[in-house]
Amino acid sequence: MHILHIALPIPKRRLFDYICETEKPPIGTRVRVPFGPRKLIGVVWKVSSKSEWDVSKLKPIEEIIDDTPVLNKTLLKLCHWLTHYYKHPIGDVVQTALPVALRKGESSLPKPITFIQTNAKGAELDIAELSRAPKQQKLLSKLQEEELPKSIARTDFGAPAIKSLLDKGLIETLEKQPKYQSNWQQELKIQDKPLANVEQAVAISCIEAAIGQYSSFLLEGITGSGKTEVYLQAIESVLKQGKQVLILVPEIGLTPQTVHRFKYRFGIDVGVLHSGLTNPERLQVWQQSAKGQLGIVIGTRSAIFTPMLNPGLLIVDEEHDASYKQQDGLRYHARDLAVVRAHEENIPLVLGTATPALETLNNALTGKYQHLKLQQRAGNASVASQHVFDIRQQPIRFGLAQGMLDRIKQHLEQGNQVMLFINRRGYAPALTCHQCGFIEQCKRCDKPYTLHKQLHKLQCHHCGSAKSIPKHCQHCHSEELTSIGVGTEQLEHGLAEYFPNYSSIRIDSDSARGKNKLDKMLNSINNNEHQILIGTQILSKGHHFPNVTLVLILDIDGALFSADYRAAEHLAQLITQVAGRAGRAEKPGEMWLQTHDPAHPLLQDLINNGYGHFARYALLERQHAALPPYTFQGLFKAQANSAQLAHEFLAQVRHFFDHSENVFCIGPIPSLMEKRQGQYRMQLVLQSSQRSHLQHALGQHILQIENLPLASKVRWSLDIDPQDFS
Ligand code: ADP
Ligand code: ZN
Ligand code: ZN
Repeated sequence: MHILHIALPIPKRRLFDYICETEKPPIGTRVRVPFGPRKLIGVVWKVSSKSEWDVSKLKPIEEIIDDTPVLNKTLLKLCHWLTHYYKHPIGDVVQTALPVALRKGESSLPKPITFIQTNAKGAELDIAELSRAPKQQKLLSKLQEEELPKSIARTDFGAPAIKSLLDKGLIETLEKQPKYQSNWQQELKIQDKPLANVEQAVAISCIEAAIGQYSSFLLEGITGSGKTEVYLQAIESVLKQGKQVLILVPEIGLTPQTVHRFKYRFGIDVGVLHSGLTNPERLQVWQQSAKGQLGIVIGTRSAIFTPMLNPGLLIVDEEHDASYKQQDGLRYHARDLAVVRAHEENIPLVLGTATPALETLNNALTGKYQHLKLQQRAGNASVASQHVFDIRQQPIRFGLAQGMLDRIKQHLEQGNQVMLFINRRGYAPALTCHQCGFIEQCKRCDKPYTLHKQLHKLQCHHCGSAKSIPKHCQHCHSEELTSIGVGTEQLEHGLAEYFPNYSSIRIDSDSARGKNKLDKMLNSINNNEHQILIGTQILSKGHHFPNVTLVLILDIDGALFSADYRAAEHLAQLITQVAGRAGRAEKPGEMWLQTHDPAHPLLQDLINNGYGHFARYALLERQHAALPPYTFQGLFKAQANSAQLAHEFLAQVRHFFDHSENVFCIGPIPSLMEKRQGQYRMQLVLQSSQRSHLQHALGQHILQIENLPLASKVRWSLDIDPQDFS
């Protein structure tokens, strides 16, 4: 008889013991067990002959689900590390690491997936008949050659094209076992490889030299300097050795164009993992990669858990991107986990960006990571010149000063595109009464509603609640309600009035809802269907707009005075990334930043000396202020129906650390957003000059905290290396 110590999806920092009377299953195998009236699926974490509980009361397991473990050695080690580092319940860590289909207990053996293929009619149709629907035409012509997994067709051609062809009765779906291109090593075919420039060649050879051993690289290259090309050539060497590559990209950067670039260069299948996949599709990529049947896997944050049979290289593109940090449940940072994984698998890791996170830059400057730099733009592209535009005492309409309008006009008349960046969607951030000053607020968050004219709604951007736009002031019944401030919708409206002869397009999460929508919009921009681009963050991420020669950044002044110590870093990254969209082709570009504070040291440093200089200075400031990355933080958050309850819980948490010599506490204090969705929110920061002290103190007390009576009365979380203090 064996005692199995099992990681169950229960939010407790412990394992659960069960009896197994058959042959013992290997560690990392899934089992089904009774838990109260329920059945749960867990993973065998330890096997022994003893239990700290009364063995006669332990229940037997019900079923061993797998013949071979679903968590290989590397994933087990990563789960171990995550549990320890983030002080998180093991069961939840294991859940996070597994694809959803496996969490639910489905078989880990390959299953049929959905394909699409032509039917008799579709096979014979002259594709010229579809010339009015180019996407459908391309898809059908591809399907006349071979059937495609539906997920791949969706990524490459879009769901609407598939639906139209199905509706027209030209194609059909079928379920079948995919055949793998398992000999991708033989199929490698390198296409259109440019000659690397000197800086690229140095970077590539440094990475190549590290194949087969652990090494972390920061590839710090200005936008358009050819970082992706460095990845591609390093990947080539890895693939040629028969080894696999895992590439992480930000949520928003995973477009068909990105995937296509990798597929095209090597002529092999690329496994893609993003949030738009169905559970079986996700599992498919996971299994193929685990069997070594995919040379390249590209995915967003959680793809860091994709097993590889024969790992060769890890890449984290745009490593500074906030989407790599999970903001709920297990609050892990995929970049940090990538470092641990590269260590574990003894492979090199490349962190690429134009705007390194201060943590990463510090690791490069102290020699923990090798520092590779690309300081010139690849090919002949020039760097955009950067300027601030002083709008003090200037008349502003629709958020724009006259001087900016003149510039827009000039660039449009030269036949170029202009891009306006404003980090606020909707028409205006508030609606107020002109008579009495009353502001319409969300009662659950105590924050103003955003006015969305197109949707005819007031919407709370914090909790998502919405209501119709009132006709009178609630307070004084006046009908004179006016908006305050500017959002993308208003900017679009204003520019249409100023420049009626040019077409504009607005890209924000309202207008670009759905993956293919964004892709369509990006294509229409590059086909020059629009001359004026207006957008939020979405526009700042890695997309190439070769015809944009003018970038305007509006309304960033708020971020200059934020209470969050990371605000300056994030603002500098944003400005640099947005500016990087201009002048990428052979046309020189310019970037203008509208501000009421043109002399602000951050802006001046950034504009005159660039992000690299700013970041090194910002690191000094962090050092003087004893802030991360020079100190280490853990953040307890609590929320409840009453502020007092949340406060009381955190006060009790604080009590455990009050006498600790090496850890000091800030709080409990209200979070930056004190109230959200009707819940009151408080926080407590723990800080230490050494990571080990913080880890030790938390390790000592986390179970006591978990077992506090109040812990079950509030919603609480612990966030290690917190990024989000809202
Ligand atoms: P980044 O990833 O740094 O933004 P990319 O790798 O996308 O830069 O390169 C920017 C552009 O320059 C792309 O169009 C790419 O094809 C081109 N490019 C990159 N390296 C070279 C090179 N060595 N020779 C010619 N063109 C290059
Ligand atoms: Zn009023
Ligand atoms: Zn709200």
